[in-house]
Amino acid sequence: MKRTGDQAFIKELNKSIVLNLLRFHSPISRTQISVQTGLNKATVSSIVEELIHEDLVLEIGHGRARVGRRPVLLLFNSRAGYVVGVDLGVDYVRIIVSDLSGEIVAVREFPLADNKSPQQMVESIVHAVDDLKAELPSSSLGVIGMGVGVPGLVDYSHGIVLNAPNLAWRDVHLSALLENYLNLPVYVDNEANTGALGEKLFGVGKEVSDLIYISAGTGIGTGIIVNNELVRGSQGIAGEFGHMTIEAQGLKCSCGNHGCLEMYASERALVQKYRQLTGLACSSEDILARLDAGDADALRAIQTVGQYLGIGVANLVGGLNPSLILIGNRLSAAGEWLLRPLEQAVQNRCFTVPYTQLRIQTSSLGRNACAVGAASLVLHEYFAGPQTAA
Ligand SMILES: [Zn+2]
Repeated sequence: MKRTGDQAFIKELNKSIVLNLLRFHSPISRTQISVQTGLNKATVSSIVEELIHEDLVLEIGHGRARVGRRPVLLLFNSRAGYVVGVDLGVDYVRIIVSDLSGEIVAVREFPLADNKSPQQMVESIVHAVDDLKAELPSSSLGVIGMGVGVPGLVDYSHGIVLNAPNLAWRDVHLSALLENYLNLPVYVDNEANTGALGEKLFGVGKEVSDLIYISAGTGIGTGIIVNNELVRGSQGIAGEFGHMTIEAQGLKCSCGNHGCLEMYASERALVQKYRQLTGLACSSEDILARLDAGDADALRAIQTVGQYLGIGVANLVGGLNPSLILIGNRLSAAGEWLLRPLEQAVQNRCFTVPYTQLRIQTSSLGRNACAVGAASLVLHEYFAGPQTAA
């Protein structure tokens, strides 16, 4: 005879199986759910009643039937609640609110003041989230959680930012700080990881099993998906290819090493290269605008940055054989200006390229990739089903 604990676990497990089928395959009838899950009709009916009661499932009229009564179709109610995704940049914060299917319903972005202390950052985020929440339509579940993408090393299981050199943060318990104000579950991950997840779940990455998302902003981060799973490594801090050495005697980096990729292939590198060529201190946005206006020095600067980024990508392609490379974050706004020298460097430097089906393009979710991926952390945890004790 089964113990009560086992029965409760199985009930929760079955409910999660039915709910996840509805999330990705509705509209669907009770009979179809029974056929596809192998659960008997009585069990399916009882679970569906519960989900309707919780407002996660709606009945939406009748489907077709060859004989007999037409079955009632069920729809996952993606507007039963909302999730918040935060892209914590080095000098900006971008916040999106999505429904339970990852569809964006609101976006906010604001620049960061010089004070980048965790407390200051948390207060700014909480203030913006309160404003956004007030604008949302009413829903049964309301906001169910927040995900945050951070430029640095993150202990995902504890929500701790271990080291974010560009923010000068060490050992910041960010999830606890935010949960304290928001009274919601908060998940924190590296921003390139969330970008990769966003593209995999809701962007062009849906179509492939192996991709690398390169977050090219103030620094460089990489989120790697192999065989449909995010690569976190043994301590959860894999993907720091922005700090792989590409010039052995090169420039000193904020990580303490010399000659890191991000010193040559990031927005910061673009700004420095342009200043070196012209003596002018322009922002990367200004340089990209000058590029469009035909400025030859801007072209030379972006070509240099693209070539270096291509050297980094060539190393990744040779090592991991992805089918898709996505360039995200602000430098992706350079589009073809960046991609052409980058692709050329990959062709020249990676001998495996002729044997691969490799696509290199800018992020399909654009500036929202990181925040959408951060929001997807909440959806992943919320719909994960019961966990067995390890
Ligand atoms: Zn470095």
